[in-house]
Amino acid sequence: MNCELVSVGTELLTGDTLNTNVMFLSKELSINGFSVLYHTTVGDNPGRLKSVIMRALTRSDLIITTGGLGPTQDDLTKETIAEIFGMEMEQRPEIVAKLKAFFDRRGVEMTENNLRQSYVPKGGVMLPNPRGTAPGIMIKKDDKTIIMLPGPPHEMMGMYEDCVEPVLHQLKNQLVISRYYNLSDIGESTVEDSIMDIIDRQDNPTVATYAKLGEVMIRLTANGDDSETINALLDRYEKVIIERFGSHIFTHSQDSLDVTVGKLLMEKGLTVALAESCTGGLVASKLAEIPGISASLKMGLVTYSNEAKMQLLNVRAETLDRYGAVSEQTAREMCEHLKEISGCDITASVTGIAGPDGGTPEKPVGLVYVGVCAKGKTTIKKYLFEGSRKIVQLRTANKVFHLIRE
Ligand code: ATP
Ligand code: MG
Repeated sequence: MNCELVSVGTELLTGDTLNTNVMFLSKELSINGFSVLYHTTVGDNPGRLKSVIMRALTRSDLIITTGGLGPTQDDLTKETIAEIFGMEMEQRPEIVAKLKAFFDRRGVEMTENNLRQSYVPKGGVMLPNPRGTAPGIMIKKDDKTIIMLPGPPHEMMGMYEDCVEPVLHQLKNQLVISRYYNLSDIGESTVEDSIMDIIDRQDNPTVATYAKLGEVMIRLTANGDDSETINALLDRYEKVIIERFGSHIFTHSQDSLDVTVGKLLMEKGLTVALAESCTGGLVASKLAEIPGISASLKMGLVTYSNEAKMQLLNVRAETLDRYGAVSEQTAREMCEHLKEISGCDITASVTGIAGPDGGTPEKPVGLVYVGVCAKGKTTIKKYLFEGSRKIVQLRTANKVFHLIRE
């Protein structure tokens, strides 16, 4: 089933608003086995919106629009679509009542234009919007389905599960199950190359890879009439994926590496302390996003200067003089001394040159040392990353999590 997303709103074209609705909906549709073939964005202009919808009707079976359902004059999505289908607009008393109650609760007088939201194309299905005043609308005509959702992301997402997902399942008349495998320390092209034989055979299940900085996610999606058959099919392919990627797979969920490692630390009751130079606390900050992490994350030091490395981590002046701050020796002393200071089960250190300035021929921008002390053993790794300051920092943080996991 081919699907097209139409985003309505001039603010999306001018760059004032980032179109997060398409990201959310595309992901959900793909997981449910729909092929999203087009994303179209159009301003609050009825003529252009009309031509976009007419075009979408020629090439897509399911069209989901977001935006343009509100009370203001520039909100014209439902009127435009009703016109295309030759449907009249009719006022729904239940929406009027809901609008009145909404404004009464807030003690605000309802302006007349709000009543525009109570009109629905005759024959269309009203989709309740628990988080806002503008309901969504679904129209089915011949073999085409159009779902109109409001633009504010929290309203749109709040309606997804109750109003959109059931329609998707109805349309497919099939069950769809996805499984995820998240990999680290391996590139997307290597991953794709190793499963090319499965990707080439794409039918059921389908396999897709998604790359994020330092991580690659494989998604396996199968459909069928019952979960037992689908799971048996997925088991067969899962076996192949596990055989080929082994320990690169850090989780079978959609969790990122930092979240996976954080959860693992909590699960095992392990404590961790960090000493960061060029990442400026990024590793600690990523861990701190995980609820409950205070059980594991005990300390994070940002030791940028040589003085801080000496004062707070007892890195020896001699080491810094002889090898420099960005060196295997400094990374080693940082994490080994932090182990003594903190008494944590695991300590990690980072020292490097994030750039864009500060590189030398011997120590270029992107040179990073990561140290991890765990189970009575210290591991120091040297990396040379390409990219901007931000990319070097993110890649470094990713490697810290990778080494902690090992
Ligand atoms: P409203 O009653 O607020 O007018 P609406 O259905 O008419 O609802 P819009 O006017 O299109 O929706 O958008 C309302 C808000 O949602 C705006 O702040 C807009 O920037 C935001 N928004 C709209 N579409 C998107 C989108 N695709 N991604 C992210 N934000 C969006
Ligand atoms: Mg609006």
